[in-house]
Amino acid sequence: MKNKILRLILGDQLNYQHSWFREQRPDVTYLMMEMRQETDYARHHAQKLIGFFAAMYNFVAFLRKSGHQVIYLQLQDKKNLQSLSENIKSLIAENGFTHFEYLLPDEFRVDEQLKKLSKEINIEVSSSDTEHFITKREDFQEIFSGKKKYLMETFYRKLRQRTGVLMDGDEPAGGRWNYDLENRKPFKSHQKAIPPLEFNHDYKSIWKEITKAGVKSIGTPLDSKFPWPTTRKESISVLNYFLDELLTHFGEYQDAMTSRSWSLFHSRISFSLNTKMISPLEVIKKAEERFRNNPEHYTLPQVEGFIRQILGWREYMRGIYWAEMPQFSNLNFFEHKRKLPAWFWTGKTKMACLHQAITQSLEHAYAHHIQRLMVTGNFALLAGINPDEVDEWYLGIYCDAIEWVEITNTRGMSQFADGGIVGTKPYISSAAYINKMSDHCKGCTYDYKIKTGEKACPFNSLYWNFLDNHRKKLENNPRMGMMYKVWDKMQANEKEKIILQAQKFFDEIKIL
Ligand code: FAD
Ligand code: SF4
Repeated sequence: MKNKILRLILGDQLNYQHSWFREQRPDVTYLMMEMRQETDYARHHAQKLIGFFAAMYNFVAFLRKSGHQVIYLQLQDKKNLQSLSENIKSLIAENGFTHFEYLLPDEFRVDEQLKKLSKEINIEVSSSDTEHFITKREDFQEIFSGKKKYLMETFYRKLRQRTGVLMDGDEPAGGRWNYDLENRKPFKSHQKAIPPLEFNHDYKSIWKEITKAGVKSIGTPLDSKFPWPTTRKESISVLNYFLDELLTHFGEYQDAMTSRSWSLFHSRISFSLNTKMISPLEVIKKAEERFRNNPEHYTLPQVEGFIRQILGWREYMRGIYWAEMPQFSNLNFFEHKRKLPAWFWTGKTKMACLHQAITQSLEHAYAHHIQRLMVTGNFALLAGINPDEVDEWYLGIYCDAIEWVEITNTRGMSQFADGGIVGTKPYISSAAYINKMSDHCKGCTYDYKIKTGEKACPFNSLYWNFLDNHRKKLENNPRMGMMYKVWDKMQANEKEKIILQAQKFFDEIKIL
């Protein structure tokens, strides 16, 4: 019998440069599917749904144009059984495929599903690498074998050495590995933001298909002016725009927040990276090239700060995901139980910083890192929200949210629900930090300087209440000592007022 191979490509495996596509093979049929299994496992942002379908659709067009055979099941197709396993079983039965091949998925649930399916179908099965990441799933365990704790910095340095990125021989370029401390400036009122590069796609038909099928979503669809890149070419334009216009400001203002811009100097390449339309190494190499070829214009701290996010944080989070799943998804170190207030889905809160972060997330399916970490995440942690609720929100709302990178950032870095697997201490702050790094406090109903009373900013009492509440779990953490010293120096009656104020905020959380 002649070989008939069915090759599966998932919606986040749009690697235009994968070796699979180098030759046209008459014995191979590629399979891509829009499925309710994927549209419904979280309530996704409308732009995330549209973006994934449009990017998949364009990828199918690329494959067909390159001479490959493709089966593309759309949401409304009668033959679509809406489940990965059921569709594959049915296609094998119908078409007599002799082999099934898939690219290793990046999500645990899909990995398990494919392993189970492989045992159920009676044909030969094999899997291949997506050829996207710099590290393999198992590299992480190897790097940290025998070590008590994972450390991003150790991992990052190893990868710099391994890839030769920003290395001069055996030494880091410029003599230092990390220029993080030089990257912490607020954005001043006289400074001008540079607008993001947006596209003007008309994806009304895709949105119609999604709504007709009854898929539930959140956020604004922006169907007649869809702004995100949905091909490799467009993804490279967004990257080049970042390198040409934004990179020189990126590092310096990486932690800044302003109501005058929703993306400031951030690259907005996470959707392109996470769907694999562009690769991390090509992004890193292009950024390094700028610095090497034009050192008068691009400084080492700027370029190193950006490269660290991708070579360091992104690969590190993926490593943790595969090392710690599935138990990671159930961790709740602080035993937080509160529900996320309804205004997380409307943006209707008097807290200006949260209003900005949530409203722009609903409008653009995007918030930059420090908004996710130090505004929405910080609030959720201080307010004692159940990490399941927090994860669900983050997994739905951002166009770049795929579990491997969402859960490690949310449950790990932001909520410290892992008790310190990802980070060494919880990322929490009172209003002083938000005021220092943003222009939000100026126009806020609340006063960032005040801890108690009518105008008091909720971040202040919630911050001290959190520390007091979790003292047993945190006070021996050497990085938390200073905070407890400050708390311990406060007068007993002031402490009492702060705790009562926090309690009042908990009671009124729905209307803050
Ligand atoms: P830039 O600020 O321009 O950074 C460049 C790139 O570096 C990003 O595109 C991203 O690929 C990488 N990067 C930066 N920080 C991280 C990080 N902590 N972890 C992994 N990669 C990083 N990122 C996602 O891709 N998907 C998510 O679902 C996601 N959820 C998050 C949830 C929380 C609570 C937090 C605190 C962070 C989350 N991040 C997530 C990480 C980061 O916020 C986004 O990658 C970034 O905001 C994307 O915007 P950008 O492309 O403009 O990034
Ligand atoms: Fe946010 Fe408080 Fe500042 Fe208002 S005063 S913007 S709530 S930190």
